[in-house]
Amino acid sequence: MLIPCDECMREISHTAESCPYCGYKIPPELRESIDKEIRERVEARKRSEESDKRFNIGCWVLTVLAGILLLIFLHHLGS
Ligand SMILES: [Zn+2]
Repeated sequence: MLIPCDECMREISHTAESCPYCGYKIPPELRESIDKEIRERVEARKRSEESDKRFNIGCWVLTVLAGILLLIFLHHLGS
């Protein structure tokens, strides 16, 4: 992730130990807190993808059920 350098305000990678432009040393606590934030974001995305999957399965089951009911209904009409 790119973060603004505290010294020169240019965008630098948070994994860099120091700013390549001005040499400002990035405090390790800052790097760690950004790392943590990124990890949390990845986790949150994973969780939302999982719930999407569950939602899709729910839709699929509903569609199949509706199809079966329709078949039963049509069968009823035919006889
Ligand atoms: Zn800098």
